[in-house]
Amino acid sequence: MSSLYLHIPFCSRKCPYCDFFSQVGSQQQINEYVELLIINLQILKRDNSHDTPFNTIFFGGGTPSLLSVGQVEAILNKVEQLYGIANHAEITLEANPGTLDFERLQGYYRAGVNRLSLGVQSLNDQKLQLLGRIHNASQARESILAARAAGFENLSLDLMFALPDQDLSSLEQEISALLSFEPEHISLYGLSFEKGTEFYLQLQSGQLTACEEGLYAEQYRLLHGQLAAAGFEHYEISNFARPNRRCHHNQVYWKREDCLAIGAGAHSFSSQKWGTRWYIPENLQSYQESLWRGEDPAEILETYDRQGAMREFAYLALRTRDGIDLQEFEERFNLSLQQVFPGALDKIQNSLDSPLTSGRCRFNLNGWLIYDHLISHFL
Ligand code: SF4
Repeated sequence: MSSLYLHIPFCSRKCPYCDFFSQVGSQQQINEYVELLIINLQILKRDNSHDTPFNTIFFGGGTPSLLSVGQVEAILNKVEQLYGIANHAEITLEANPGTLDFERLQGYYRAGVNRLSLGVQSLNDQKLQLLGRIHNASQARESILAARAAGFENLSLDLMFALPDQDLSSLEQEISALLSFEPEHISLYGLSFEKGTEFYLQLQSGQLTACEEGLYAEQYRLLHGQLAAAGFEHYEISNFARPNRRCHHNQVYWKREDCLAIGAGAHSFSSQKWGTRWYIPENLQSYQESLWRGEDPAEILETYDRQGAMREFAYLALRTRDGIDLQEFEERFNLSLQQVFPGALDKIQNSLDSPLTSGRCRFNLNGWLIYDHLISHFL
């Protein structure tokens, strides 16, 4: 598997809960940034860091749907020319309602984007307002319908839960409304209050109240139950897919497979030896300066030894429904999971979906609810 991620760090407005690397950008900044992405691709090609066609390409952000059709087309043409794009490659673009119309969606589809990930977040106007989103519920609905009309047969919708004052019945209505559009994929985001965000300050000052732990768990279980009943596979902690509609690109991360990532703030991974991660600093000016000097702006973040690779392999796989394949683990690392993590396995056994004799180590739903705590035993 060979994958490419492109980070687009611009949004129309900064949402008050968001701690991703994104900022409000002018049209000129966006235009210049697209040129930088193309230079970045050329420099990587010159340095021979990658030489196979991509199976998955992901435009993430930020708000990649701020790019014009021509810009998406220019980037994909450059990728095709320099590296190649595999037949039937999955090409995803994250898009926000409020930045879309039918012509734009049709243009993206014609340019080769075949999977759209729509940041719907909610179909309730009050909740969208609270979240500081630029769209309302009817714009979200229109975007979904326009995406279908433009040809998208692989549609992922984002939904947020654990919102202030959200009760189970309003969440149930939200998910039913989302399901009425028959998406292929749904990603869930439980609201969190990250340092440095406006929501964090509002939480500190008592203007906002976080969802209490018990209610969070009830909401998560409700969503799982409703989506399972609608035929969705809960294939990763926060992701649900209809049969054969898992996101191939994101699976690359959880399987520790190669991913080349460009754009300020992007993180790449190479699985050679025990693995290396590198990243491009979240700084638009230094990104531009490095590229104008003809230099690769990426810096090494971590080089793994066998122990580090085993740990990471285990805790990433435990995010997924497939979990850790015990035979695969032994083939990769020449040691069994039981040999490497006897203490951790002892501590997580009540949160496993089936005994290790099944050949897999994977969490049940309650295990996923306390994932951060459980994986601390592997670190
Ligand atoms: S649109 Fe997405 S990336 Fe942009 S500020 Fe809002 S949550 Fe963050």
